Amino acid sequence: MMELRQALSGFWTGTLSWDFSMADYCTLKAGGKAAALVVATSRPELAGLIVGLEENSIRWRVIGRGSNILVPAGGYDGVLIILGGDFCAIAGDPGLSGDDGRQTVRVGAGCPAAKLVGWSVVHQLSGLEFMAGIPGSIGGAVFMNAGAWGGEIADVVEGVSFVDRRGRFHDVGREDIDFSYRRMRPRDPALEGAAIVGATFSLRPDSQRLIIEQCRSHVAGRRRKQPLSVASAGSFFRNPPGDSAGRLIEAAGLKGLQKGEAMVSPKHANFIVNTGRASADDIVELMREVQERVYRFSGIRLEPEVHLLEKG
Ligand SMILES: Cc1cc2nc3c(=O)[nH]c(=O)nc-3n(C[C@H](O)[C@H](O)[C@H](O)COP(=O)(O)OP(=O)(O)OC[C@H]3O[C@@H](n4cnc5c(N)ncnc54)[C@H](O)[C@@H]3O)c2cc1C
Repeated sequence: MMELRQALSGFWTGTLSWDFSMADYCTLKAGGKAAALVVATSRPELAGLIVGLEENSIRWRVIGRGSNILVPAGGYDGVLIILGGDFCAIAGDPGLSGDDGRQTVRVGAGCPAAKLVGWSVVHQLSGLEFMAGIPGSIGGAVFMNAGAWGGEIADVVEGVSFVDRRGRFHDVGREDIDFSYRRMRPRDPALEGAAIVGATFSLRPDSQRLIIEQCRSHVAGRRRKQPLSVASAGSFFRNPPGDSAGRLIEAAGLKGLQKGEAMVSPKHANFIVNTGRASADDIVELMREVQERVYRFSGIRLEPEVHLLEKG
């Protein structure tokens, strides 16, 4: 760990926190420590950081706003990178509107998803209503191919900008990226392990009243169905093909099941909630118990949708 500190201090002068408790960052309000958490604010800064990390064989990963990750109790023994500054910008470009009036919007990966939804309401552009109420950043939403109410990022994204593991930037068209359920993968092998720095979306002009109504109805639907007053990472498990993880967990009688202060939400069985001071261990133990008991009950092995950032 001393080596990491020495090396990183040698080439990074930007914002940095050592031994950062990820419970203070993630929406689950639980998690072990990251050896270092840094905020990169511009492309040159990010490129230099990645080159330095790779040269020193230091593990790194770009994260968003922590609404779909859990760092286990053992911690993350590398550098977690947050994209701030320039990476939070939104730039609508009317010059890029097509024959059908659709407009292309460029967004930095660090931009909060809610900020982009608000921007599209103000500019009377439709396509992102399904995102209303999904927390997180645009980078996280693209990486996870976030979706709800029958819509997903793949439907509206035109292109994605990446930084590869050598610190080089690439603009990639939608046609060269495979999107699937809560996953995406660029086809170019040079982009293996690359991070997302921005995305462009194609949005359609529409009545502001209709856009607002859609957003409101989605947010109201979430309030009805989801335990939004307690800490969580949203749906914890991926839906298995043709079924719903929540249905399987409920059918196995697991609503309300607890480990320490982690609980299977009585309101929505696919939410693991932190009712107070749950530790990362509580959450991981509860996850394993749910997997085990659903498997015994139905023969189906649930896989987490939440990303566990394990030790290397
Ligand atoms: C109350 C609640 C409701 C939710 N509802 C939904 C929903 O309806 N639909 C849905 O799809 N999700 C939902 N989620 C989950 C989560 O909000 C989304 O997955 C979101 O898009 C994650 O964004 P983030 O910025 O928080 O990513 P993080 O949680 O920080 O990261 C998630 C993953 O993406 C990677 N990542 C993040 N940014 C980048 C980047 N720039 N480059 C490369 N990799 C990156 C991280 O390394 C990690 O592997 C919900 C979560 C909560 C708490």
